[in-house]
Amino acid sequence: MSAITLSGLRKTFGSGKDSVRAVDGVDLEIADGEFFSLLGPSGSGKTTVLRLIAGFELPTSGRIRLGDQDVTKLAPFRRDVNTVFQDYALFPHLRVFDNVAYGLRVKGVAKAETVARVNEALETVRLTGFGDRRPAQLSGGQRQRVALARALVNRPRVLLLDEPLGALDLKLREQMQVELKAIQAQVGITFVFVTHDQAEALTMSDRVAVFNGGRVEQVDTPSAIYERPATSFVAGFVGTSNLLPSEIAGGIVGQKATFSVRPEKIRLVAADHEADVEEVVADGVVEEISYAGSTSRVSVVLSSGPTMTVLRQNGPVLDGEPTPVPGSRVRLAWGRRHAVRLPVDDFTKIDD
Ligand code: ADP
Ligand code: MG
Repeated sequence: MSAITLSGLRKTFGSGKDSVRAVDGVDLEIADGEFFSLLGPSGSGKTTVLRLIAGFELPTSGRIRLGDQDVTKLAPFRRDVNTVFQDYALFPHLRVFDNVAYGLRVKGVAKAETVARVNEALETVRLTGFGDRRPAQLSGGQRQRVALARALVNRPRVLLLDEPLGALDLKLREQMQVELKAIQAQVGITFVFVTHDQAEALTMSDRVAVFNGGRVEQVDTPSAIYERPATSFVAGFVGTSNLLPSEIAGGIVGQKATFSVRPEKIRLVAADHEADVEEVVADGVVEEISYAGSTSRVSVVLSSGPTMTVLRQNGPVLDGEPTPVPGSRVRLAWGRRHAVRLPVDDFTKIDD
């Protein structure tokens, strides 16, 4: 059964010419126990969708179901969901234990059960023994885990997380990504996770919905989103992509359609390399090489016009593999199956 079903969901803020269509017709089914991410740039409507599911906002139109219950107009506290925000929103004057216990006390859960459940939640987030500390005595990562425990202690059917790792530095964030995923697998609760970070969404999720301008452009597994982007927006937002507009692709790929090719699928080959039937080649001139330790990014201006980015492993040099230097002529080759065909008239520019 689906944990969450969104049908024709719309939310407009304000009215007249100042109105903003934050959510513009979203249909989604999120399965029970799924780690599901809403990924998109700032302003694409992710938080609004989360707030609609939680009940903090009412939709302009459309319906929201949790399990088999229509909750579209239900008050937030009557929905079986909990939300974890980026800024933790812990009570600074309360001990960790009391922060986590808060919701249970409000609900009038018996004292012994409260103690047992709070301790269990603290154990789940690996904060056993931290119950007496105040939020100010914790690191950022620990505070975020308290916020998580405070939500988990209610044993909601669905946990909504709005950029919960956004305030952490990169190392800690990567560590928390792994932990959060493990916790989700352990508790088996459906997680709806909002992020603008594509690497984070790909690492953590069972499935990802890519948002753009209040709409969903693609819903799929991380590898399908990356390997088979449905639109040029997805190709450009998730990872780096080389987009070949149709008039250029006609000459290179042999089909007049927009194509996307990932930088790591492209090889630099010798100038006399002959393409086999499975392969596409294109000639150009190296413009720039940017070194990043294990890899280098090589930008190559094709003789047909566009600039292609090639990701190169800085491993052992293969026989006959040319060493690129700025200004040198090179031949690029990639497998036909790595050129992903996009909808014909779809050539959105990604600006960031
Ligand atoms: P995201 O979380 O993807 O960054 P949001 O859902 O916060 O996007 O916002 C989507 C759009 O709706 C933005 O243009 C934002 O400015 C607008 N918006 C969000 N909340 C409100 C509000 N309460 N009033 C007016 N506009 C809002
Ligand atoms: Mg947001």
